[in-house]
Amino acid sequence: MARVVVIGAGVGGLAAAARLAAAGHDVTVCEQSSRIGGKLGWYERDGYGFDTGPSLLTMPGVFEDLFAATGGPLRAELDLRRLDPIASYRFADGTTLAAHADDDAFAAELDERLGAGAGSDWRRLADRAARVFDAAEGPFLSSPVRAGGLARLAWASPGDVAAVAPGRGLRGLGRSYLRDPRLRMVLDRYATYSGSDPRRAPAALVSVVHAERRFGGWYVPGGLRRLGEAIARRAEDRRARVLLDTRVLRVTRTPGGRVDGVRLADGSQLPADIVVANVDAAALYGQLVDDRRGRRHVQRATRSMSGFVLLLALSGRTPGLGHHTVTFPADYDGEFDAVFAGRLADDPAVYLAVPADPACAPPDSEAWFVLVNAAPHAPAAGRPGVRGLDWDQPGLADGYARHLLDVLAARGFDVRSRLQWYKTITPADLARRTGSVGGSIYGGSSNGARAAFLRPPNAARVPGLFLVGGSTHPGGGLPLVVLSAGIVAGLVGPA
Ligand SMILES: Cc1cc2nc3c(=O)[nH]c(=O)nc-3n(C[C@H](O)[C@H](O)[C@H](O)COP(=O)(O)OP(=O)(O)OC[C@H]3O[C@@H](n4cnc5c(N)ncnc54)[C@H](O)[C@@H]3O)c2cc1C
Repeated sequence: MARVVVIGAGVGGLAAAARLAAAGHDVTVCEQSSRIGGKLGWYERDGYGFDTGPSLLTMPGVFEDLFAATGGPLRAELDLRRLDPIASYRFADGTTLAAHADDDAFAAELDERLGAGAGSDWRRLADRAARVFDAAEGPFLSSPVRAGGLARLAWASPGDVAAVAPGRGLRGLGRSYLRDPRLRMVLDRYATYSGSDPRRAPAALVSVVHAERRFGGWYVPGGLRRLGEAIARRAEDRRARVLLDTRVLRVTRTPGGRVDGVRLADGSQLPADIVVANVDAAALYGQLVDDRRGRRHVQRATRSMSGFVLLLALSGRTPGLGHHTVTFPADYDGEFDAVFAGRLADDPAVYLAVPADPACAPPDSEAWFVLVNAAPHAPAAGRPGVRGLDWDQPGLADGYARHLLDVLAARGFDVRSRLQWYKTITPADLARRTGSVGGSIYGGSSNGARAAFLRPPNAARVPGLFLVGGSTHPGGGLPLVVLSAGIVAGLVGPA
């Protein structure tokens, strides 16, 4: 039995704690804040409640595996609700499109709304996405990547590498399969699931299309935060300890270099044989542990995008509004130009999540979660070499919130007269609350043909140190961080 300290009670940290405790280790989770969940946050006020991070759950099988492997089925803990449509899209020309969960219904919708042939274009792309997903699932998504995932794929099957198209970009793939520019925007959006620029993201991200369509989009009644609570309960049931308000300042090491514990903000030391870091890899290598190669690795990557969140407490109901809605601008590229140059996007795609759930709003009211992509927080923005935006500038967040309310109004969602109150969550807020550097949601972006395959590995070079969560392999998003926990538990092994 090893003494394991997990730094951070994000979903990845909690899942790793549950798995390692179930494997017989003595596990302590140190969480700097007074809540578990990390980016899977929750905000409530005046009878309104909002998930402040994830609003769409995909690949539920990953969570089912986690629960089954740690003591009992997920469905005994949580009720998952399948969404149909998964999202509704609204384009600048006024066209709307419902992304039905059923493939035939979606293809028919595409033909009807975008014109004959759009459905078969999408089907061909979806087939390609399935091949990429199947090629990547075992050797990439569920395995540690040490010497490069591509090498492992090549070893598995050269045909798989062809499907993944390592040298190719997502944008190029879209152009070759999809004739309708609006449908290409839908595909581009999947790059943003990893905080990346669709013009620079690898074609392999098309696999996300498949993950969403094959396994569906899901909601957890009561809010997705319930998922984090359930994993924490499971970890504690397996005798892991979760210490809140416990900030780790340093991973300590023996003279030989192996980890031997963590130093806490109150000056005390927790001994450990294994340390699992759920903190952003850039924060780990920047502040918590000395490892020059690890630091260089995270510094090489472009940071992923952050998000600007606007929570709207509204009176009344919006007729016909679904659970998830995306409204696209006329010029989607303008958004990526702005965000990756460290500017506000004037006319961004706006994502709305409005659960029809009594836990989220009083009767005859709505709680709107509004999200746009945003440049990471960079307090020194403007200095040479610093890309990002100083989100703490007075008035910036409120000004942008009002601007977004106008953008929404211009796109047919004028809720200004129904507004009871609003709250903003900026990249700076996210950075402070979760320790992610600059508030980047996914650590390093997948900008660049190979970036998705070159994330900081789960096994650090420092003996006894492991990484779990969205900034390490295989990437961000709830299912992937839970997969990373499975990988780490496999690397550590049973007690
Ligand atoms: C606005 C937004 C929308 C999103 N939408 C979706 C979505 O719809 N679907 C989806 O699947 N994913 C979504 N995501 C991504 C998803 O939330 C993340 O990928 C996932 O929650 C990250 O989990 P993690 O394990 O990396 O840990 P994190 O959530 O990053 O948690 C890390 C934890 O470590 C703690 N910590 C940091 N430093 C220290 C320290 N020194 N000492 C102790 N504790 C420390 C932090 O306080 C935090 O609790 C979204 C994220 C955001 C922000």
